[in-house]
Amino acid sequence: MSAQAGPTGVPRRRIAIDGPAGTGKSTLARTLAERLGGAYLDTGAMYRVATLQVLRAGIDPEDAAAVIAASADLPMEIGTDAGSERILLAGEDVSDEIRTARVTAGVSAVSAVPEVRANLVGLQRRLASGGGTVVLEGRDIGTVVLPDAEVKVYLTASPEIRARRRTEQDLAAGRDADYDEVLAAVIERDRKDSTRAASPLRPAEDAIVIDTSDLTLDEVLDRLVALAEGADASHGDAAEGNTQ
Ligand code: C5P
Repeated sequence: MSAQAGPTGVPRRRIAIDGPAGTGKSTLARTLAERLGGAYLDTGAMYRVATLQVLRAGIDPEDAAAVIAASADLPMEIGTDAGSERILLAGEDVSDEIRTARVTAGVSAVSAVPEVRANLVGLQRRLASGGGTVVLEGRDIGTVVLPDAEVKVYLTASPEIRARRRTEQDLAAGRDADYDEVLAAVIERDRKDSTRAASPLRPAEDAIVIDTSDLTLDEVLDRLVALAEGADASHGDAAEGNTQ
């Protein structure tokens, strides 16, 4: 079956990239979108903005009722341009602040609230509804947001490797990072994200699972490009290679 045409008549190619933190997911998804000349959406950033709004309101992220009230109206602007990551909250650029340890520590609790997810999933579907290529990255894109995406990939790697990559990334960006603390946080966030009742982190049944532990970013990117290009010719066949 060929890729379906979107509302604009341009053939539609929706690429879902899911997986836990530290698999190279963001860099890969963004680079893939650039390479394919498509749009890119970082859905994790949206949950981070909701968390920042909750924290700024002085609310405990574990207090679900207060989280719902504080995030019902979320004045967020997020672009789908792979070349620039600019995320605004009430007109203020919060692209850096949403990456701080304070937000990272609260985001799993906020994203476990079904009402928060319903708001953001609706927005994600709208942003992905145009024609052409769009790459969405997150935790539930292949399972919930776009269950009929033309390409579904689930990236994974051992917690130790993911923590090492995260530590290096944070240090390179000028943020404080201690490997042992990052590893503990990675394990705890995985546990919360994969055991929550609403849209837990897990591969879609028809996702291609790629373990990136022993692969370079370029090697993974080559596989993703091949999968995306294969989807142009034969949407659906990709599900046959559902292995490491
Ligand atoms: O990818 P990132 O680390 O920025 O995601 C932050 C958090 O947002 C995740 O740990 C998860 O709790 C939540 N998230 C989610 N569903 C998504 C994307 C992110 O629940 N689609």
